[in-house]
Amino acid sequence: MKLLLVVALVVSALVVVPAAAQPAGPVVSITIDDGTADQMAGASILAKYGMHATFYIISGAIDTPGYLTRAQVESLKAAGHEIGGHTVSHPDLTAIPLDEARRQICADRVTLSYWGYQVTSFAYPFTALNPDVQRIARDCGYNSARTLGDIRSPHDCPDCVLAETIPPADPFNVRAPDRINTSWTLDDLKSVVTNAPGGWIPFVLHQICDGCAELSLSPAILDQFLAWLRDRGTQVRTVQEVVGGAAKPVVAAAPGYRDDLANPGLENGPDNADGLPLCWSNTGWGKNKVTRTRTNDAHSGRWAQRLDVISYRDGDTKILPSQDLGTCAPSATPGRAYRVSAWFKSTGFTQFALYRRLPMGGWAYWTAGPTISPSETWQKASWMTPPLPRGSTGMSFGLALISVGSLTTDDYGWTLAGPGPRAKAS
Ligand SMILES: [Zn+2]
Repeated sequence: MKLLLVVALVVSALVVVPAAAQPAGPVVSITIDDGTADQMAGASILAKYGMHATFYIISGAIDTPGYLTRAQVESLKAAGHEIGGHTVSHPDLTAIPLDEARRQICADRVTLSYWGYQVTSFAYPFTALNPDVQRIARDCGYNSARTLGDIRSPHDCPDCVLAETIPPADPFNVRAPDRINTSWTLDDLKSVVTNAPGGWIPFVLHQICDGCAELSLSPAILDQFLAWLRDRGTQVRTVQEVVGGAAKPVVAAAPGYRDDLANPGLENGPDNADGLPLCWSNTGWGKNKVTRTRTNDAHSGRWAQRLDVISYRDGDTKILPSQDLGTCAPSATPGRAYRVSAWFKSTGFTQFALYRRLPMGGWAYWTAGPTISPSETWQKASWMTPPLPRGSTGMSFGLALISVGSLTTDDYGWTLAGPGPRAKAS
């Protein structure tokens, strides 16, 4: 008798509540990727309408230039937003070894959980996923993982579905419209909502600013869009609210460790000029225009890497060991100095640029070596670093081109320099 009563109550709750609460049209989520500092502007617009977003955070980038601070992430949580995971350092998860992918996804969730958040939602960096990566996202304890570009969008995917279903057909392949960039108008945003007969539209935003980046939405358009959603009674929910399910236990990932430089001669990699050697990335900053070539003009072996700076105002460009959690970047010991080296030919000025891995797995700029003059023939550049700062767990470095000209590098070296730090004389 009691059981029947409970069943009757549950059934009536299932029937009555959604019918009363749900207007026609889709449920909308505002999902915001990467945790850049300008997203605080988005948070204040959401607050105007009492709406909550899902912020997919790159935990290793928090407290680094251009990204949210810990205090800002805390304020997002306090305002009712959801904090989701987006890996430690935003790699293409399909292009790295599976144990590194596991560290990237699990360690990020561990960090965010340690900071006090109930972390149930994940987004794949660059929408790069495959069955292995999906399985790892599930193994790390997530309830959902979002991709993008699989829902019909104003400028993309005319044959795609009009909305994701609730619950999503595959929670580890949550579909979304194409990512919002500067070409999206207010009418574009509205059309995705009005085209959907029901279901779920998780919009994908990145930066929130007036044209500070290609992947940005102007605060004014966001404001008008949210006002429109409110006026038509559209439900705006976080991903966690739509997908449901309790937060699962955190899952630690075995830390990575390597005591040498991966692929120092740049030999392993694709057989084409556009590629990069395995375990090496091309990074840079500032206003300059760069082309990159995998070249057979090598110091030894078959391959070297060439960079050409065509125009230069400031900044640098370089290749360096991929800034990861131990697959490519060497582990290093605080307080110890290292000797870094590289063979090079150049027509421009260069210097070593060094980075260090922080305890939570993120990376920070560390220091730079002295300026090195151009050399038409192969030369070995070598520099002994200062002691590695406290709290560092790894390092990455490259010979950086800091002027107009070309730079070809090969045969990098990295060794512990001399004995440990001497005790200070008292
Ligand atoms: Zn991202």
